[in-house]
Amino acid sequence: MIKIANLKISFGDHEVLRGIDLTIEKGQVMVIIGPSGSGKTTLLRSINLLEYPTEGILSIGNSRLDFTPQTKPNATDILAFRRQTGMVFQSYNLFPHRTALQNVMEGQVIVQKKSKAEARIKSMELLRKVGLEDKADSYPHQLSGGQQQRVGIARAMGIDPALLLFDEPTSALDPELVGDVLKVIKELAGEGMTMVIVTHEMKFARDVADQVVFMDNGVIIEQGSPGQVIDRPTHERTRLFLSRLN
Ligand code: ATP
Repeated sequence: MIKIANLKISFGDHEVLRGIDLTIEKGQVMVIIGPSGSGKTTLLRSINLLEYPTEGILSIGNSRLDFTPQTKPNATDILAFRRQTGMVFQSYNLFPHRTALQNVMEGQVIVQKKSKAEARIKSMELLRKVGLEDKADSYPHQLSGGQQQRVGIARAMGIDPALLLFDEPTSALDPELVGDVLKVIKELAGEGMTMVIVTHEMKFARDVADQVVFMDNGVIIEQGSPGQVIDRPTHERTRLFLSRLN
């Protein structure tokens, strides 16, 4: 189980997350929706510790991090936590001078200290899983956006994360490439991967989410099943947001 309690983050005097509480059960898929600037990316980045919360508690399995305005957890604990989360970025963020295979291997060799031989076997399996076994030796610029994103997913999976985070994984893609990426994410959901996904794809959210969370202005406005939040929202702000998407 992953627990987030009273998570706050400020940049200067701008408080971007203003006390977020969330619980994600093992095997659950949580979809986060909300207007631009509401703090969705910042929330994912703080769960992955690419940004440090100003305050709050993050816990995953036995690993727990306490942030207060005065104290930060030590670097070893932060690293141990970060190793349990994999992140898939909107703009793929692959290393341009490394092949697809090398991109997937990288975290396993550097973070997990696996041998190259072992990392290669696992990475080829993951590339097969995302339908890109034949592109192992291609460089990112030789791949379509959808293929690059699928390499990004294989890379995030490489370190066997307890939690996978997706930040608008299809929003940079041409419409005809979106389906292949969503299909891979749906397959992972079907296999019981625990995931938090920020997306504007409402049909996909309905299909894949156990819980949908609507955020605005750094707080959670409402959360529940896709039917509750997307089809029968109770808050005016959620209704307004959803009506603007259509
Ligand atoms: P979008 O849907 O447009 O991606 P979002 O909901 O993901 O938006 P965030 O990217 O989390 O929103 O940004 C929330 C707010 O935090 C914005 O006002 C943004 O300018 C601010 N912000 C985010 N990161 C930083 C940073 N590193 N330094 C300063 N301000 C930041």
